[in-house]
Amino acid sequence: MAYCKECNKWLLLDEIAIYRRLIYRDAEEYLCKNCLSEEMKVDVSEIDKKIEHFRSIGCTLFN
Ligand SMILES: [Zn+2]
Repeated sequence: MAYCKECNKWLLLDEIAIYRRLIYRDAEEYLCKNCLSEEMKVDVSEIDKKIEHFRSIGCTLFN
């Protein structure tokens, strides 16, 4: 169980996984998709695409 360190939203496993994949693999605090997209200055849909991409290549963080 984890909450976004920015907005306290309850995090989905995908959100934790993409944060670890994109930002810091050993992170113990995470950002939700919305806060992560702001941090990275991209649209939330870009984050969704990255999640789909990493899942499609079988990244173990997304299992
Ligand atoms: Zn957030």
